[in-house]
Amino acid sequence: MNAIQTTTVTLTGTGVPHPAPGRAGAGVLIQYKDTTLQFDAGRGTVIRLAECGIAPHQLSAVFLTHVHSDHVMDLADVVLTRWIQQTLHPTSAIEIVCPWGAPEQFVTRMLDAFEIDIDLRIKHVQEIPPKFSLSAFETTSNPQTVWQSPDGTVSVLAIAVHHEPVPDAVAYRVNTPNGSVVISGDTRVCPEVEAFARGTQLLIHEACRTQAMSHAIKGSKFEQIFDYHADTIALGQMAARTEVPHLVLTHLIPQPRNEQDCESFISDIRTGGYTGKVTVGSDLDSFEIN
Ligand SMILES: [Zn+2]
Ligand SMILES: [Zn+2]
Repeated sequence: MNAIQTTTVTLTGTGVPHPAPGRAGAGVLIQYKDTTLQFDAGRGTVIRLAECGIAPHQLSAVFLTHVHSDHVMDLADVVLTRWIQQTLHPTSAIEIVCPWGAPEQFVTRMLDAFEIDIDLRIKHVQEIPPKFSLSAFETTSNPQTVWQSPDGTVSVLAIAVHHEPVPDAVAYRVNTPNGSVVISGDTRVCPEVEAFARGTQLLIHEACRTQAMSHAIKGSKFEQIFDYHADTIALGQMAARTEVPHLVLTHLIPQPRNEQDCESFISDIRTGGYTGKVTVGSDLDSFEIN
């Protein structure tokens, strides 16, 4: 158990499906005292958590924003690693919180491919099969509380976002005694996240330079792909309306390779009119909420 009194937010992955050096798949870790919450579990999440000093057995719950592989790739690793570590760190079944429908269907099936490995380990040293407790909720356009810490100090709310044609996609808002954080998941710039982010201290939002790349992508599949992601100029406009003091960009399209690329993201956000603090996220960037 850690003894953190502030709320710490760490990016465990800022990448997208196309791999890039130094960028794990989507994920955000939020810690307040002994509440340790992971949002999405993309490629490399368990390793990134280890780099934060967190093992799967220390997680209070894992939340999924939607079913795309770059957000769920390492969820089975979280569950299986926690299970294998039971010999050293006995814990209860991990809680997985996600929307009903596509994400819930993925979670219920995700260990099927590991059946042979699970049988082998049970015959060898593991006493019982791996377990998780699934808390699935109906996605709604109004905020709803989907999780609370046992002492009631930390709550997590969800709201439906717009990542169509992907069904059952949500953003999360985490309320702690230090303040609130919003995690957009994958979405176009939308009024639901805008309403969610008002009055919070930190907005972690996916970012796609759609307008800047419009000529380069014209007539290609990327036009369709970029259509369900958040254009950085529109995001700057939205962030300005929310008056959130700090905007963190993640799930970066295109993935920045140098300082100049990062500056281009910031320039788009400024063009949108946002004047608060902007961070172009890197893996393991960490922010404290006070
Ligand atoms: Zn994604
Ligand atoms: Zn997605």
